[in-house]
Amino acid sequence: MNKNALHKISYGIYVLTSKNGDKVNGQIANAVLQMTSDPITVGVCVNHNNLTHEFIDKSKVFTISILSEDAPMNLIGNFGYKSGRDIDKFKGINYKTGKNGVPIVLDSTVAFLELELIKQMDLGSHTMFVGKVVNCDILSDENPMTYAYYHNVKSGKLPKSAPHYIEAEEETDIKTKGDTKMDKYACTVCGYVYEPEKGDPDAGIEPGTKFEDLPDDWVCPICGASKDEFEKEE
Ligand code: FE
Repeated sequence: MNKNALHKISYGIYVLTSKNGDKVNGQIANAVLQMTSDPITVGVCVNHNNLTHEFIDKSKVFTISILSEDAPMNLIGNFGYKSGRDIDKFKGINYKTGKNGVPIVLDSTVAFLELELIKQMDLGSHTMFVGKVVNCDILSDENPMTYAYYHNVKSGKLPKSAPHYIEAEEETDIKTKGDTKMDKYACTVCGYVYEPEKGDPDAGIEPGTKFEDLPDDWVCPICGASKDEFEKEE
């Protein structure tokens, strides 16, 4: 069985938010799917261990902010590689509170959906939450970010808590084969790979900058890990 076949399914990059009393939290989700159109229902898969899972389970409301292709990696890293148990993920984030009381991310969001939970299915590691869309709108005409764009253009990786994470050794990254001029370095925390050919434009690092030449205070654009938490890729 070649699990890479699963990589041929298309996904997006979404900020999934919910609330619990007066507390709010959000995370990155990529398994989001419209199920029906009358009523309009949408499903999303969430890891059991995530704080957002706990919040949706309790409040029965959630919101999906659909990110644009130009969403910066640190926005995705803030929601995707940190826990709301440790930090306030909305600190410094431009958002508004929706009709269901849940935050809608306004930075780099092309559209949002506000949902009320109507069904949930336990799938072992994850729960599939299905909600009825009670409000939605378009915020910009930019392209929504697909998972393929995040992976291929932004060099983003899946955390192990993602519903379709596949062990790294089973991944085949055709794009990077035969490319040995400058060493790539991988973040040991989140799996992001620094590619010298691409640099890190969001942080002002020009394409063609060797990892060794990055400033000492440069940090992983996804999770914020420091340079010494990177390892050279074989
Ligand atoms: Fe990282």
